Amino acid sequence: MIIAVDGPTASGKGTISKALAEHFGLPHLDTGLLYRAVGRQVFLDGGDPDNAGDALAAVTFPDSLLADASLRSEVAGGMASQVSVHPAVRQALFERQRAFADQDGGAVLDGRDIGTVIAPDADVKLFVTASVEARADRRYAEMKGRGEDVRLEVIAQDLRQRDERDRNRAEAPLVAAPDAYVLDTSTLGKEEAIAAAIDAVRQALGT
Ligand code: C5P
Repeated sequence: MIIAVDGPTASGKGTISKALAEHFGLPHLDTGLLYRAVGRQVFLDGGDPDNAGDALAAVTFPDSLLADASLRSEVAGGMASQVSVHPAVRQALFERQRAFADQDGGAVLDGRDIGTVIAPDADVKLFVTASVEARADRRYAEMKGRGEDVRLEVIAQDLRQRDERDRNRAEAPLVAAPDAYVLDTSTLGKEEAIAAAIDAVRQALGT
C-alpha cells in the first residue's frame, strides 16, 4: 500500500506521515529532506542554488548528509525550495523516491508532488494544509522552544514566499491531486490531526 502525503511547509504533513507510517506499519520517506540535502550541498560547494548546473552537481550528496541536523533549519528549507525548481534536479531525485514507493509492502512518502508525480497510483492520497497564520504560529513556537530568536512576522513572510515559489513553479508545482483527501489542520491539535488522517486513510481503503 502506498500512502502519498503532500502539502505546504509546516502544515503538519511530516508529523502526520510519521504517525501514519507507524500506525500502518510502513516505512516512511520525508522527500523534503532530499531537496534540503541538495540545497545544503550546493552551499558546501560554494555554488548558487538558483543555478541549474550548480544544483544538479549537488544531487550526488553523500547519504551521511541526510542525518545532518542543519538540514532542519529555515535556511536549508529556503535553499531546498530554490533548488527544487530545476527540472533536472527533480528528475535526478525521481528514481530514488519511486524505488522507495515501490518496495514490497508499500510505504508512506511525504512531499509536494507525491500524489501527482512520484506516485500518482498511490492507494491513498492526502493533501494536508493549514492557514499561513496557523503554520507560522506553530513554526514560531517550535523555534522559540529551541531557544532561537525569531519574529512571527518574518516567519509568516518566509512561509508565504516559499508557498508562492512551490505553487507557481513550472515543474511539479504544489497542488492537491484531484483524487486527494484535503485535510485542513488549522484548528486541529496534533493528536486530532493524526486521528483525522488515520480516519481518512481507512475511509479511502474502505476499511
Ligand atoms: O517539506 P520540506 O519543507 O522539507 O521541503 C523543503 C522544500 O523542498 C519545499 O519548500 C519544496 O520546495 C521542496 N520539495 C519539493 N518536492 C518534494 C519535497 C520538497 O519540491 N517532494
